Amino acid sequence: MTKHAPRHAYFEGRIVPYADAKISVLTQALHYGTACFGGLRGYWSEAESELYLFRPQDHYKRFLNSAKLLCMELGLSREELVGHTLALLRAEELREDCYIRPLAYKAEEGIGVQLRGGRDGLAIVAFPFSRFIEKPDGAHLTVSSWTRVGDNMIPPRGKIAGSYVNSALMRADAQAAGFDDAIALDHLGQVAEASVANLFILRDGIVATPPTTGSNLEGITRSSLITVIEAELDTEVVERPIDRTELYLADEIWICGTGVEILPVTRIDHRPIGEGQIGPLAERVRTVFQDVVRGRNARYRSWLAPVYRSGAQVAAKPERESARPR
Ligand code: PMP
Repeated sequence: MTKHAPRHAYFEGRIVPYADAKISVLTQALHYGTACFGGLRGYWSEAESELYLFRPQDHYKRFLNSAKLLCMELGLSREELVGHTLALLRAEELREDCYIRPLAYKAEEGIGVQLRGGRDGLAIVAFPFSRFIEKPDGAHLTVSSWTRVGDNMIPPRGKIAGSYVNSALMRADAQAAGFDDAIALDHLGQVAEASVANLFILRDGIVATPPTTGSNLEGITRSSLITVIEAELDTEVVERPIDRTELYLADEIWICGTGVEILPVTRIDHRPIGEGQIGPLAERVRTVFQDVVRGRNARYRSWLAPVYRSGAQVAAKPERESARPR
């Protein structure tokens, strides 16, 4: 996915050459999936000669929540994590769109499944990253035969490494069968999300997305879109359970996440969604979202943290000052 290896990493307390950020094959997280991670984007503004991190405070809030679910003691606040990320990006001298991957892991070496008592490790890497998936005609998805993990299994509201086996099984089988990706149903048979993205449908003029109690990740793009669609596109958004057959009957569908951004879905299980073409609302959502993440909409500037200019000051802003998270 990354063309060039990063030159640096934040690794166990300091910025080191990327080649020095190594862990042992006996590291527990590698064996048992006991790690959690984040995924942030940095957007380069040519006009302002500045790199902007999108909602870093909210990403690190979720990261710390994921760590909490794994009983981790990272000893770092949200503000400190944002600060280390900004410092890493400056060291890396990234002046283009990029992706940032923080990873916290059970660092103890040796066998034995446990969450408490051992050492927890932390690494952050950043690398250039533009569009994740290009699908000019929209994506063709399938409803997976794998069930999404639930809150009492491996909690999907956190970004926990082990639960990505569930996503990988769905995605691998979908792609082997010729689809672009999979949609996951929860243990009740209702729509949870896509394999690594949240999902929205448009039906009869109302946008709907499954609630965060519906076996999905508390997505930052999802919460941003709820705010932005209501405020900028004057369209009602409801968080409610969605049945499988509502997918087939929807007028429009798109999936969203930091990696995929907004990806319109035009077919599911060989059935056309709406007219089987990218819908007008999905197009508008895409445009409006690009304006937001690239700083062209002044109302959402508090969601962006500049990397090179007064990074530390902006990064320390409390959550309340950013728009309402959902
Ligand atoms: N669901 C899953 C399972 C994901 O891995 C992701 C990507 N992080 C998302 C949803 C979208 O979340 P976000 O918008 O915070 O990137």
